[in-house]
Amino acid sequence: MAVSTSAPPRAHGASCDECGVCASVRDWSTPDAHNLLVHMIRSRVEEGLRGGGSPPHDGRTVPIGVSARHVHLSPEHVETLLGPRTPLEPVRDLLQPGEFATDHSVSVVGPSGRVLERVRILGPTRPRTQIELSRTDGVGLAMNLPMRRSGDLEGTPEVTLVGPRGTVRTDGAIRAARHVHASPEDAARLGVGDGDEVAVRIPGPEGLTFPAVQVRTHPGWILTMHLDTDDANASGVNCVTHGVVLV
Ligand SMILES: [Zn+2]
Repeated sequence: MAVSTSAPPRAHGASCDECGVCASVRDWSTPDAHNLLVHMIRSRVEEGLRGGGSPPHDGRTVPIGVSARHVHLSPEHVETLLGPRTPLEPVRDLLQPGEFATDHSVSVVGPSGRVLERVRILGPTRPRTQIELSRTDGVGLAMNLPMRRSGDLEGTPEVTLVGPRGTVRTDGAIRAARHVHASPEDAARLGVGDGDEVAVRIPGPEGLTFPAVQVRTHPGWILTMHLDTDDANASGVNCVTHGVVLV
Protein backbone atom coordinates (compact mmCIF):
# COMPACT_ATOMS: atom_id res chain seq x y z
CA MET A 1 0.00 0.00 0.00
CA ALA A 2 1.38 3.35 -0.94
CA VAL A 3 1.22 6.10 1.61
CA SER A 4 0.96 9.49 0.03
CA THR A 5 1.35 12.57 2.13
CA SER A 6 0.86 15.85 0.36
CA ALA A 7 2.23 18.09 3.08
CA PRO A 8 4.23 17.68 6.25
CA PRO A 9 2.39 17.89 9.54
CA ARG A 10 2.72 21.38 10.92
CA ALA A 11 3.18 22.71 14.38
CA HIS A 12 0.01 24.34 15.64
CA GLY A 13 -0.24 27.80 14.19
CA ALA A 14 3.30 27.78 12.95
CA SER A 15 4.48 29.14 9.66
CA CYS A 16 7.69 27.11 9.84
CA ASP A 17 6.67 24.41 7.41
CA GLU A 18 9.95 24.28 5.58
CA CYS A 19 12.44 24.50 8.39
CA GLY A 20 15.66 22.77 7.57
CA VAL A 21 18.40 21.29 9.59
CA CYS A 22 19.38 24.66 10.68
CA ALA A 23 16.28 26.44 9.70
CA SER A 24 13.43 28.31 11.10
CA VAL A 25 11.54 29.94 8.32
CA ARG A 26 9.90 33.22 9.16
CA ASP A 27 8.57 34.11 5.74
CA TRP A 28 6.10 36.80 6.60
CA SER A 29 4.99 37.18 2.98
CA THR A 30 2.73 34.11 3.00
CA PRO A 31 -0.93 34.48 4.02
CA ASP A 32 -0.54 32.06 6.95
CA ALA A 33 2.48 33.90 8.21
CA HIS A 34 0.79 37.26 7.78
CA ASN A 35 -2.15 36.08 9.88
CA LEU A 36 0.24 34.74 12.49
CA LEU A 37 2.13 38.02 12.57
CA VAL A 38 -1.12 39.93 13.11
CA HIS A 39 -2.01 37.51 15.90
CA MET A 40 1.41 37.97 17.53
CA ILE A 41 1.18 41.74 17.41
CA ARG A 42 -2.37 41.71 18.80
CA SER A 43 -1.33 39.34 21.60
CA ARG A 44 1.62 41.50 22.57
CA VAL A 45 -0.51 44.65 22.58
CA GLU A 46 -3.18 42.96 24.69
CA GLU A 47 -0.53 41.67 27.09
CA GLY A 48 0.85 45.16 27.38
CA LEU A 49 -2.60 46.60 28.12
CA ARG A 50 -3.05 43.96 30.82
CA GLY A 51 0.29 44.89 32.30
CA GLY A 52 1.71 41.52 31.36
CA GLY A 53 4.22 41.73 28.58
CA SER A 54 6.58 39.12 27.22
CA PRO A 55 7.58 36.09 29.26
CA PRO A 56 10.40 36.82 31.65
CA HIS A 57 13.66 36.85 29.72
CA ASP A 58 16.16 35.62 32.22
CA GLY A 59 18.82 34.77 29.68
CA ARG A 60 17.93 31.09 29.57
CA THR A 61 15.28 31.20 26.87
CA VAL A 62 15.85 29.86 23.38
CA PRO A 63 13.69 30.32 20.27
CA ILE A 64 12.27 27.15 18.71
CA GLY A 65 12.62 26.15 15.06
CA VAL A 66 10.47 23.37 13.66
CA SER A 67 12.16 21.08 11.15
CA ALA A 68 9.75 19.52 8.70
CA ARG A 69 10.92 16.47 6.80
CA HIS A 70 13.68 17.26 4.32
CA VAL A 71 16.75 15.87 2.62
CA HIS A 72 20.34 17.02 2.23
CA LEU A 73 22.02 15.58 -0.86
CA SER A 74 25.57 14.77 -1.87
CA PRO A 75 26.73 16.39 -5.13
CA GLU A 76 26.58 12.99 -6.86
CA HIS A 77 23.00 12.42 -5.78
CA VAL A 78 21.99 15.89 -6.95
CA GLU A 79 23.26 14.99 -10.42
CA THR A 80 21.47 11.65 -10.45
CA LEU A 81 18.17 12.92 -9.10
CA LEU A 82 17.95 16.34 -10.75
CA GLY A 83 20.16 15.92 -13.79
CA PRO A 84 23.79 16.72 -14.68
CA ARG A 85 25.02 20.22 -13.91
CA THR A 86 21.82 21.15 -12.12
CA PRO A 87 22.77 23.66 -9.43
CA LEU A 88 21.03 23.68 -6.09
CA GLU A 89 19.72 27.20 -6.03
CA PRO A 90 18.15 28.94 -3.06
CA VAL A 91 14.55 29.98 -3.20
CA ARG A 92 14.62 31.01 0.45
CA ASP A 93 17.38 31.49 2.94
CA LEU A 94 17.01 29.59 6.18
CA LEU A 95 17.85 30.96 9.57
CA GLN A 96 21.37 29.62 9.93
CA PRO A 97 23.89 31.35 7.66
CA GLY A 98 24.47 29.55 4.36
CA GLU A 99 21.53 27.15 4.67
CA PHE A 100 18.70 27.45 2.17
CA ALA A 101 15.56 25.82 0.84
CA THR A 102 15.34 24.90 -2.84
CA ASP A 103 12.25 24.44 -4.94
CA HIS A 104 13.25 20.84 -5.63
CA SER A 105 11.82 17.82 -3.90
CA VAL A 106 12.09 14.05 -4.03
CA SER A 107 9.88 11.15 -3.10
CA VAL A 108 11.19 8.87 -0.36
CA VAL A 109 10.37 5.19 -0.84
CA GLY A 110 10.76 2.82 2.10
CA PRO A 111 11.82 -0.83 1.88
CA SER A 112 8.22 -1.99 1.75
CA GLY A 113 7.39 0.32 -1.15
CA ARG A 114 5.52 2.91 0.86
CA VAL A 115 6.11 6.45 -0.33
CA LEU A 116 6.46 9.94 1.13
CA GLU A 117 6.03 12.44 -1.66
CA ARG A 118 7.41 15.95 -2.08
CA VAL A 119 10.16 15.92 0.51
CA ARG A 120 12.03 19.22 0.23
CA ILE A 121 15.68 19.35 -0.80
CA LEU A 122 17.73 21.79 1.27
CA GLY A 123 21.07 23.22 0.30
CA PRO A 124 23.96 23.45 0.08
CA THR A 125 25.11 19.94 -0.79
CA ARG A 126 26.80 17.83 1.88
CA PRO A 127 29.43 15.10 1.71
CA ARG A 128 26.76 12.46 2.45
CA THR A 129 23.08 12.35 1.73
CA GLN A 130 20.93 12.63 4.84
CA ILE A 131 17.16 12.15 4.98
CA GLU A 132 15.57 13.73 8.06
CA LEU A 133 12.13 12.41 8.89
CA SER A 134 9.89 12.21 11.92
CA ARG A 135 8.86 9.09 13.79
CA THR A 136 5.42 9.50 12.21
CA ASP A 137 7.03 9.59 8.77
CA GLY A 138 8.81 6.36 9.71
CA VAL A 139 5.52 4.75 10.64
CA GLY A 140 4.16 5.79 7.25
CA LEU A 141 7.15 4.20 5.55
CA ALA A 142 7.02 1.10 7.80
CA MET A 143 10.54 1.94 9.02
CA ASN A 144 12.06 2.23 12.47
CA LEU A 145 14.18 5.34 12.07
CA PRO A 146 17.12 5.82 14.45
CA MET A 147 17.56 9.11 16.25
CA ARG A 148 20.96 10.45 15.20
CA ARG A 149 23.02 13.57 15.40
CA SER A 150 23.35 15.21 11.99
CA GLY A 151 26.17 13.58 10.03
CA ASP A 152 26.29 10.44 12.21
CA LEU A 153 25.02 8.12 9.51
CA GLU A 154 26.87 4.81 9.93
CA GLY A 155 24.45 1.90 9.93
CA THR A 156 21.40 3.99 9.15
CA PRO A 157 18.55 2.52 7.11
CA GLU A 158 18.33 2.71 3.35
CA VAL A 159 15.59 4.33 1.33
CA THR A 160 15.11 5.02 -2.35
CA LEU A 161 14.95 8.65 -3.43
CA VAL A 162 13.01 9.38 -6.60
CA GLY A 163 13.73 12.67 -8.34
CA PRO A 164 12.58 14.13 -11.63
CA ARG A 165 15.60 12.78 -13.53
CA GLY A 166 16.65 9.67 -11.67
CA THR A 167 16.59 7.41 -8.65
CA VAL A 168 19.14 6.55 -5.98
CA ARG A 169 19.18 4.03 -3.18
CA THR A 170 21.02 5.36 -0.17
CA ASP A 171 21.39 5.01 3.56
CA GLY A 172 21.09 8.09 5.77
CA ALA A 173 17.44 7.99 6.83
CA ILE A 174 17.25 9.33 10.40
CA ARG A 175 15.26 11.22 12.96
CA ALA A 176 17.37 14.23 13.87
CA ALA A 177 18.31 14.29 17.53
CA ARG A 178 16.89 17.29 19.37
CA HIS A 179 19.49 20.01 19.44
CA VAL A 180 20.24 23.64 20.12
CA HIS A 181 22.31 25.74 17.72
CA ALA A 182 24.30 28.43 19.46
CA SER A 183 27.18 30.76 18.82
CA PRO A 184 30.01 30.29 21.31
CA GLU A 185 28.92 33.55 22.93
CA ASP A 186 25.31 32.40 23.40
CA ALA A 187 26.50 29.04 24.70
CA ALA A 188 28.70 30.79 27.26
CA ARG A 189 25.77 32.94 28.35
CA LEU A 190 23.77 29.75 28.87
CA GLY A 191 26.66 28.17 30.75
CA VAL A 192 27.04 25.30 28.28
CA GLY A 193 29.54 24.16 25.69
CA ASP A 194 29.61 22.31 22.39
CA GLY A 195 28.43 18.73 22.82
CA ASP A 196 26.76 19.28 26.18
CA GLU A 197 23.31 17.89 26.77
CA VAL A 198 20.70 20.04 28.46
CA ALA A 199 17.05 19.75 29.33
CA VAL A 200 14.76 22.26 27.66
CA ARG A 201 11.33 23.02 29.03
CA ILE A 202 8.62 24.08 26.61
CA PRO A 203 6.14 26.20 28.57
CA GLY A 204 2.42 26.32 27.98
CA PRO A 205 -0.67 24.18 28.56
CA GLU A 206 0.69 21.42 26.32
CA GLY A 207 4.29 22.01 27.33
CA LEU A 208 6.87 19.29 27.80
CA THR A 209 10.43 19.03 29.04
CA PHE A 210 12.85 17.41 26.62
CA PRO A 211 15.58 15.81 28.69
CA ALA A 212 18.59 15.26 26.42
CA VAL A 213 18.98 18.12 23.98
CA GLN A 214 22.40 18.40 22.38
CA VAL A 215 24.13 21.77 22.27
CA ARG A 216 26.07 22.52 19.09
CA THR A 217 28.13 25.64 18.75
CA HIS A 218 29.55 27.37 15.71
CA PRO A 219 30.60 30.97 15.17
CA GLY A 220 27.76 32.89 13.58
CA TRP A 221 25.00 30.44 14.40
CA ILE A 222 21.69 31.93 15.47
CA LEU A 223 20.45 30.64 18.82
CA THR A 224 17.67 28.15 18.02
CA MET A 225 16.39 24.84 19.35
CA HIS A 226 15.37 22.45 16.57
CA LEU A 227 12.50 20.04 17.05
CA ASP A 228 10.93 17.83 14.44
CA THR A 229 7.24 18.12 13.70
CA ASP A 230 6.29 15.27 16.04
CA ASP A 231 8.01 16.88 19.03
CA ALA A 232 6.75 20.35 18.12
CA ASN A 233 3.16 19.21 17.74
CA ALA A 234 3.29 17.15 20.94
CA SER A 235 4.46 20.16 22.95
CA GLY A 236 2.19 22.76 21.35
CA VAL A 237 5.04 24.76 19.82
CA ASN A 238 4.30 27.67 17.55
CA CYS A 239 6.45 30.45 16.11
CA VAL A 240 6.39 32.51 19.27
CA THR A 241 7.25 29.69 21.66
CA HIS A 242 10.53 29.91 23.51
CA GLY A 243 12.09 27.03 25.40
CA VAL A 244 13.80 27.44 28.74
CA VAL A 245 17.20 25.81 29.08
CA LEU A 246 17.54 23.86 32.32
CA VAL A 247 21.10 22.97 33.27
ZN1 LIG B 1 19.37 22.19 13.47
